[in-house]
Amino acid sequence: MNAPSPEPIGRFRFMDAQPVNLDGLAVEDPRLGLIAFDSPHDPAPSLVLGPEDTVLEMDSRPAAEFDVLDEFIARHGLDLDVAAEAMALDDVAFAQMVVDPQTLRAEVLRLAAGMTPAKLARGLALLRPVELGMAMTKLRARRTPSNQAHVTNRSDDPLLLAADAATAAAYGFREVETTVPVLGDAPSNAVAVSIGAAVGAAGVLVQCSVEEAAELEMGMRGLVSYAETVSLYGTEQVFVDGDDTPWSKAFLTSGYASRGIKMRVTSGGGAEALMGASEGRSMFYLEARCVALARAIGAQGVQNGGIDSAAVASSVPGGVRSLMAENVMVMARNLEACTGNDALMSESDVRRTSRTLPILLAGSDFVCSGFGSIQRYDNMFGPSQWNAEDIDDFLVIQRDWGIDGGLRTAGERQVAGVRTRAVAAVRAVYRYLGLGDFTDEWAAQAVDAAGSKDVPAADLMTPLVAARIIRETGLTMLDVVTALYETGFEEEAGRILALLKARVAGDYLQTAAIFDESSRVLSLVTDPNDYAGPGTGYFPTADRQAEINAVRQQRSVDDLRAEQAAYRSGALRAVGSAGQGADPREVVIGVSPAVGREIWLTLSGLTVVEALGELLAGLEEEGCVGRIVRVNGTIDLGLIGLTAARLSGSGIGIGLQGKGTALIHRRDLPPLANLELYSVAPSVDASLYRRLGVNAGRHAKGATPEPTRNPYSDEAIEARYHTKVVALVDIERRCSDPDRGVEDLEVDR
Ligand code: CA
Repeated sequence: MNAPSPEPIGRFRFMDAQPVNLDGLAVEDPRLGLIAFDSPHDPAPSLVLGPEDTVLEMDSRPAAEFDVLDEFIARHGLDLDVAAEAMALDDVAFAQMVVDPQTLRAEVLRLAAGMTPAKLARGLALLRPVELGMAMTKLRARRTPSNQAHVTNRSDDPLLLAADAATAAAYGFREVETTVPVLGDAPSNAVAVSIGAAVGAAGVLVQCSVEEAAELEMGMRGLVSYAETVSLYGTEQVFVDGDDTPWSKAFLTSGYASRGIKMRVTSGGGAEALMGASEGRSMFYLEARCVALARAIGAQGVQNGGIDSAAVASSVPGGVRSLMAENVMVMARNLEACTGNDALMSESDVRRTSRTLPILLAGSDFVCSGFGSIQRYDNMFGPSQWNAEDIDDFLVIQRDWGIDGGLRTAGERQVAGVRTRAVAAVRAVYRYLGLGDFTDEWAAQAVDAAGSKDVPAADLMTPLVAARIIRETGLTMLDVVTALYETGFEEEAGRILALLKARVAGDYLQTAAIFDESSRVLSLVTDPNDYAGPGTGYFPTADRQAEINAVRQQRSVDDLRAEQAAYRSGALRAVGSAGQGADPREVVIGVSPAVGREIWLTLSGLTVVEALGELLAGLEEEGCVGRIVRVNGTIDLGLIGLTAARLSGSGIGIGLQGKGTALIHRRDLPPLANLELYSVAPSVDASLYRRLGVNAGRHAKGATPEPTRNPYSDEAIEARYHTKVVALVDIERRCSDPDRGVEDLEVDR
């Protein structure tokens, strides 16, 4: 028997150091609720109706044994007109209807409305991952996808909050959610974020997530325009622990509706297991109860897919699939889906992308229920699945797939502009309302900041004082509108007033309602999802597609040409037609047609003149003489090198392309053969060109050079440089002209 080795072998020490191994992964354990689907303790679906639509039994439990969730769902959560038909439906037949594009959304929803939690869970659990994507594309309520941002910071700095909210709106987020590290700051945060969002774009909804009573009060004062953090749980015990009941949640829901405020609830798999009250049920079954409850209490939507307990759900086998299935279940109950991708569920970029991508591709009412539009360290909800660190990635992924994830590119000037204006607006409003003063230094730092660490001038007492005054004076959003109007921010005043007026009209109480940037309501009613297979449903308009495609990093050949022109130099000159050399110590260096005309910089960042200088110096070290020629007739490096070799007195030549690729050739070899090739242009640095010169000199003398190897690299060379190579090759080809023959070049080193 072998003794246990003191430490793992190198391969495993290396793998253990990868980020994914910081994640906690659990053995499936139904007793603890650590199971995604189909716990042995999940009830079998059933529904027995008595006289006058009374429910005598639901999901294998007689009415006499109902807990508070059963009771509420049985009374308010089931469409008993279709219940008999829906409950009799075969699970596979229902799952097929969910996926089949020919079965319309409305038909699936009609049947789902009559299904008990266990019945709907059982049908949706049959969907494979790609089928979940199909279901999501078809079943979501609103046709147009969108996205929600977190805007918070560690200091509750009103100026930074406003600047970051304006930035989020500029990137296209249609809902902005803030919260507080210091509860007392909440009203100040709500006002600052609302002002900032209104600077960035019209129609951006704002919430401030705090304790339920405080949040409702802010809603009633108009300081926020939606609410989301009314939490539901899948077992009675967790309701009891939270001193709540489904009835209290329903009352709260009605409170928001009574003031025309959009409101959705929050739930998500893994929460009950985390609180030790899962009753041994699977996460998906418990979430089915939450979603049925959300429908029953009259909420217009659900934020689920793990949320705070996403890491618990994703720790078990199939957990990530269950998170997406939760979202599909919300859609099947005809509610707006805010599809998780909220709390960071993994330290691994690969895993977190794997979890989000299917939803992004399928399209959702809100792809993220909290994209951290600020840096991770400023996210007072905790780091999100996606953060400011990832905005460029997200935009490029949208572009890669040609899909609408709700975001768009914002340019640096544009963002600087809205940040400056947002900071100015908050300063003006706080001064006008007597809430606080800000120094110029603070304001300048907030405009420029990438996060609160960049705003040392912030005074942490300011938001607390402002919030106290807002609370004590009973200030409302109408006062903020007045202040904006009176201080020269009429457009922003109009945008916030429009959100207040919308409450009276009530259109944005409809399921999945958002405003577009013309303040029109897009909802289940005005923008219903009409997907019915290929060629139907949501497509970005041509303008929107152009917006998705135009990421700030894209470059054209003209951009590359301009970049090269910046390195143009008089140090390299053509001095006439090149002739045959006779000196046996001579090595000719042939360069490609664009070198010294349009190409001046190699991919390694070295200029062409610098690279040539190293080659010449290497030749000199070996007692050889270098001569530079431009081979105008071909862009093929092998032919360039061979042409140089044939002109050279020693019979040895060097070929150098403008992008930096180089080789050593000999006059008697076929074009495609060569002595040494330096193919990875971006990593050919000064020392490697010097070595190349030395080796060419040794070949010229008939000596044996030391072979060179490419340097160690784990860069994505192709991803970084291939677009540049395409452009550089195009420039070379346009400069190529056989009639110009081969020219001698002179270089000043
Ligand atoms: Ca959220």
